[in-house]
Amino acid sequence: MENLEALIRKAPVLELVRQAQEVAWVNSEKTCMAESMRGCELGQDDIDEAEARLLRFAPLIQRYFPETQPQNGLIESPLVEISAMKKRFRQNYGSSLVGRLLLKEDSHLAIAGSVKARGGIYEVLKHTEDLVVEHQLLGQGESYDRLGDPEKKQFFGQYTIQVGSTGNLGLSIGIISAVLGYHVVVHMSADAKQWKKDLLRRYGVDVREYQGDYGEAVKNGRALSDLDPKSYFVDDENSRNLFLGYAVAGKRLKKQLEELKITVDAERPLFVYIPCGVGGAPGGISFGLKQVFGDHVHCFFVEPVQAPCMLLGMATGLDNAISVQDIGLSGETQADGLAVGRPSAFVGGIMRTMLSGEFTVEDAKLYRYMKDLMETEHIFLEPSACAAFQGAVCINSEPETKRYLEEHDLLSRMEHAVHIVWATGGSLVPQEIREVYLNAAAALEQDGGYV
Ligand SMILES: *Cc1c(COP(=O)(O)O)cnc(C)c1O
Repeated sequence: MENLEALIRKAPVLELVRQAQEVAWVNSEKTCMAESMRGCELGQDDIDEAEARLLRFAPLIQRYFPETQPQNGLIESPLVEISAMKKRFRQNYGSSLVGRLLLKEDSHLAIAGSVKARGGIYEVLKHTEDLVVEHQLLGQGESYDRLGDPEKKQFFGQYTIQVGSTGNLGLSIGIISAVLGYHVVVHMSADAKQWKKDLLRRYGVDVREYQGDYGEAVKNGRALSDLDPKSYFVDDENSRNLFLGYAVAGKRLKKQLEELKITVDAERPLFVYIPCGVGGAPGGISFGLKQVFGDHVHCFFVEPVQAPCMLLGMATGLDNAISVQDIGLSGETQADGLAVGRPSAFVGGIMRTMLSGEFTVEDAKLYRYMKDLMETEHIFLEPSACAAFQGAVCINSEPETKRYLEEHDLLSRMEHAVHIVWATGGSLVPQEIREVYLNAAAALEQDGGYV
């Protein structure tokens, strides 16, 4: 790594980032989509293939998870308008947000209760289909719901699936794999919440715990998996499959917007704010959205002030060759899904010219937004998911992003803009833990602990 002073000269935002201050950062390397896609290793064809695969598995998903029947076995979340929350933004944060404010409730996705139900489940299904083809488990034209028959389940039991996780990826991979019949090992980092480990153990998942951070859990999981030819390791940092599973959200969102009679074009830009950990979920979703809406969608990631790994990797151009610890941050945050010290280089590479920018947010704010949403819209999200609100609150007022709007000729169009806050998790959080969170939020408010 170059020395810190040199890095700060190259990327002045790091001066505030290393002090764990909230920042808005605009990506100066962003280009138009036509240019961005030149030489890109993935494209809409790959996403369409992923979508078709999910359709093939829909009968099996319905068989195991009857709650997906209303959507014919597809795992998809509601898109809802949250005008009362928008009003709260103005009252409590002096936000000058204009346009419509929507919430994409991946917090309520079936099976895993988080955004990981997109990528994680897709990856396990892809691996399963590979085994089905290799071992000719299904006859010509036979429906995939037969994969739930006892002898098929027994077949999958010879195979192991392993993953390193801060919590939610483990939940998603663990639950789907256990239900399909696999032996599953989830390697959990120290940040992972107890209730997530307990829930997995109830599904019969082998949960191993590590003292260190996410990077260590991944390293151990990979090493163990490599020793066993019948074990498959889900690689959160480099997996194209996970990424494509997330990207399927693009076309589906377009359809949902159409149902709400919302058009996205040059006059009516779309802004999307997504919490970011290692980068796979926000990167994949953004990639899918950029294929559909091109230059009319503006994607922003949000990370905790102590774990802004993607911002660091992108602003320095060093990707995974730099960690938040290298600049003196702890990497520790209450947002367990975002407690990642080193970003995915694969995602950073694809996002380099597509991402509009990033925001960072303090942990105390996550609780505040969580309480705001509960009070105004009666929707519960976990703290990690609440990071996304920071983008919508700040987009119109931070000097950095205001300049972005100006340079992209968007200022006069903001009245007609649509803002989507991507709510990435929360519906599986047990009631008693929700109360702990909400009490913590109330206590912070009393102490004046809010910024
Ligand atoms: C995993 C996760 C994210 C971010 O996804 P990455 O692929 O790690 O960037 C955001 N929010 C929640 C709730 C998550 O579990």
